[in-house]
Amino acid sequence: ELSQRLTAVARYVKPGSKVADIGSDHAFLPIHLIQSGKSASVIAGEVNRGPLEMARKNVDQTGFSKQIELRLGDGLSVIEDGEVDTVCISGMGGTLITSILDAGIERLSSVQQLVLQPNVAEKQARKWLYDHGWELVGETILKEEGIIYEVFSAVRGNAKAPYQSQQWPLEQWFELGPFLWSEKSPIYKEKWEREWGNTKRVLSDLKRAKSTEIETKRMELEDRLKWIEEVLTCMQ
Ligand code: SAM
Repeated sequence: ELSQRLTAVARYVKPGSKVADIGSDHAFLPIHLIQSGKSASVIAGEVNRGPLEMARKNVDQTGFSKQIELRLGDGLSVIEDGEVDTVCISGMGGTLITSILDAGIERLSSVQQLVLQPNVAEKQARKWLYDHGWELVGETILKEEGIIYEVFSAVRGNAKAPYQSQQWPLEQWFELGPFLWSEKSPIYKEKWEREWGNTKRVLSDLKRAKSTEIETKRMELEDRLKWIEEVLTCMQ
């Protein structure tokens, strides 16, 4: 059975889409998209041979070798201009996701939708979308096996639209996520409680270190802790 995380990614893919899954690994997402009838064909890109072989095994086993095309290559280089309208990139850090998007930006000309699932540095992924004219249209947060994940869907449009509220500065909105903020789900609250705990822990380690070089860092973290407390107060 497909993980909740990848199910959330798949849910954003529109029926009939021509999809590329970049960094597909085991090809679970493409297999699901074909199995569910959402897509007629999917390109699965992988930069590493090991995962690509695993993907091949899984694709062969499910009998979808005609519908799923496995391609070895770095990031978006595996797609030709006009081949797909939807790109999914999941299970990597926000930094890697945005570097893949930057490196292959010219391959996105026919792409109408991006579905991104950054494991960390979600802020960077939202900022990238904003900076490149992609309108965030949906966000999902979920917890699976104790790990909290976020999934975003973006289309070409008005990148500023989701960030009209002045409640927070833009940089903070990139971290909070405008849709997740308005929803304030229990998992979202838990995410920010965890974030508070992590920041608090780092801060107390820094305090113990008692060195002047880390004074700036300590002050930054104290400000961050206060900000997280403000965020949490809004969720009471
Ligand atoms: N997308 C799958 C998921 O969400 O379950 C797999 C995630 S897996 C942790 C990340 C995969 O991305 C690995 O298989 C890795 O080889 C691949 N990868 C990393 N950098 C890549 C790049 N620049 N281009 C294509 N694939 C890449």
